[in-house]
Amino acid sequence: MDKPSEQSEQVGKPDPATSASSQSQPSRRQSPSAADLNPSALAKAEGSADRAAPTKTRNKALLLTKIGVGCFVVGATTSAAITLSPSISLSRNKAFSAIPKVAGVGAIAQNISTQGLGAFPGEISASYLCLAPTAAAAPSATPAAIAPGLVSPTLSTILAGAVNPSFVGQFRAAPWPGIHEAARMARVPVLMYHDILPEKEVFFDVTVEEFAGHLERIKEEGLTPISFDQLYDHLRSGAPLPPKPVLLTFDDGYIGHYTHVYPLLKEYQYPAVFSLFTGKLDGDVAGRSTVTWEQAKEMAADPLITIAAHSVMHPRDLRELNDADLQREVVESKQRLEAELGIPIRYFTYPEGNYDERVAAAVAEAGYDAALTMSNYEEWFAGESDDLLSIGRFGQSQLAAIIPEAWEGLGMNVVGRNTFDFYSPVRVMEELETEEGRLALITGGRPVTVHADSRYQLPEILARTNAVAAVDGGFFNLRYLDSNVMIGPVLSQATQTFVPGNPSENPLLNTRPLALISADEVKFVPFDADKHNTLRGVQAEMADVTDAFVGAAWLVRDGEPQPPESFGTLFDFEAYRHRAFWGINNAGQPVIGVTKDRVDSVALGELLHQVGFRDAIMLDSGASTSLTYEGESFVDYEPRPVPHMVALLTTEEAQGPCPLTFDPLPGAQEVQAEAF
Ligand SMILES: [Zn+2]
Repeated sequence: MDKPSEQSEQVGKPDPATSASSQSQPSRRQSPSAADLNPSALAKAEGSADRAAPTKTRNKALLLTKIGVGCFVVGATTSAAITLSPSISLSRNKAFSAIPKVAGVGAIAQNISTQGLGAFPGEISASYLCLAPTAAAAPSATPAAIAPGLVSPTLSTILAGAVNPSFVGQFRAAPWPGIHEAARMARVPVLMYHDILPEKEVFFDVTVEEFAGHLERIKEEGLTPISFDQLYDHLRSGAPLPPKPVLLTFDDGYIGHYTHVYPLLKEYQYPAVFSLFTGKLDGDVAGRSTVTWEQAKEMAADPLITIAAHSVMHPRDLRELNDADLQREVVESKQRLEAELGIPIRYFTYPEGNYDERVAAAVAEAGYDAALTMSNYEEWFAGESDDLLSIGRFGQSQLAAIIPEAWEGLGMNVVGRNTFDFYSPVRVMEELETEEGRLALITGGRPVTVHADSRYQLPEILARTNAVAAVDGGFFNLRYLDSNVMIGPVLSQATQTFVPGNPSENPLLNTRPLALISADEVKFVPFDADKHNTLRGVQAEMADVTDAFVGAAWLVRDGEPQPPESFGTLFDFEAYRHRAFWGINNAGQPVIGVTKDRVDSVALGELLHQVGFRDAIMLDSGASTSLTYEGESFVDYEPRPVPHMVALLTTEEAQGPCPLTFDPLPGAQEVQAEAF
């Protein structure tokens, strides 16, 4: 095929991730023949070098999430970037490209001599966007009303839309006792308490006063105690959880659980789990104190309380028992509790956390749905557990440490599809293991785009902004290394410039997703070359649009993963490649990401749907696929430089209509200083 992208391979760097291997690979699915593929210039980074055979790693037995602990904390990023106030943007543009200004109606025609742009034959027009109507508008301000951005998030914004239950219904349950992909990225801590009493006797005791303080702290910090059933549904089928969920558990049936804990739980209306071993209630095992069967029955009848079986005699280590004794501890405790309390007992808690495959198998055989463990050496969030029979817990002393970490996960808090949340904390999942390969995802914050003046490594562009994270953006022309020419129209608040797409290329983009961003909304609409190649055209789709560009393909659309047919003529959509994407999760939050293994587009769409995207579009694939957070690259190779990116601003930076700041050129401030 005679493609500019192939020519560009000669000037572009080879894909460092795949340069060792270049044989072609079989496609995973039935796909159009090569002749049906679009031989256009649209494929941005479709280097043949990336068609190497997949090198996926499969480790289903131990799908542990490696999370960039500590790096998801949101902080205001500092930047020397200038602010896009109307007056500065004028001088900035002057310094940027010495633009001769010609007054237009709502737009200014400009000849831009910026490096690289000269390669593009089309007309460039610009308009000053991002002006709140009340601002002292420059004479050239577009008469089209640009709505000001939200100054602060409001609960009503976040909760306005009705929840569409179909989003939840689409999640497939993981094969038991597997944990659902979506739950892998949440961070639900299960807190473990033992005795609660007026005065401490051993180190793991908690006084009533301390415990009341814990509940108050949980309330103040916005954590939401959930029930074991909620956690189970979440882990099993990706069911949504309330914000900052936590599960409270109390082991060993001390009297304080009834006299002190239960009344406080009722006062706060917090659900909790009490793990009882029946030998203690029966008086067969001596203990410091015990709840009575009567008290246990009263608590079991309360919907707030879940009773879990904790064996009969509380042997220190179930692994040391013979099969018959193990069977008795696991089965009899369940039967006895069910008979005495009149409720089904679904969950087991291993005494002292000790279990192995044989013990877990006995628990499964006995009919339990899930089991809690603990370890003195390692603590992990529920979604990081190997499976439902090994749910990890944190000791109660870890409360302060887990408070900032508790997170309901990506897309778990399902809101209506026209509801957006651009003010949630930015969260980083540096490496998420899935069955299709590894993903890196960054969610939260507010989405913006940057159309830079040339091609750079992503961290270089990010460093010139007040954004915290970015993924490489739309299609660009590969012919020139120093070009910023995009395929299709592009509008970025970084430049406040609308650059039309090449009219001869635009029709080839028809029906692909046109991404439209405003201060409080994102839309993906099918691109129409006849309608969308002017600023007015994109404003007709979204009046207060601040950013727009054309993406490669829909991966998830209106809550549905896209079938192979939907990819049409997209080059190599069925090939195994590194792929970049962005979209909106079921909570209405933006998410940017890349695959860290090679996946085909259809599988990627299914995967993103599973992990909670309600809409996702593919941005890129192959050698320029890149993702960065605070200057750190999240891909394992040096990607090709790019001129465009989708970035995330933290809540602190996200105020106003166009909050993105962008140094137009490296060292531009000095240039500007000289110009004056
Ligand atoms: Zn115990």
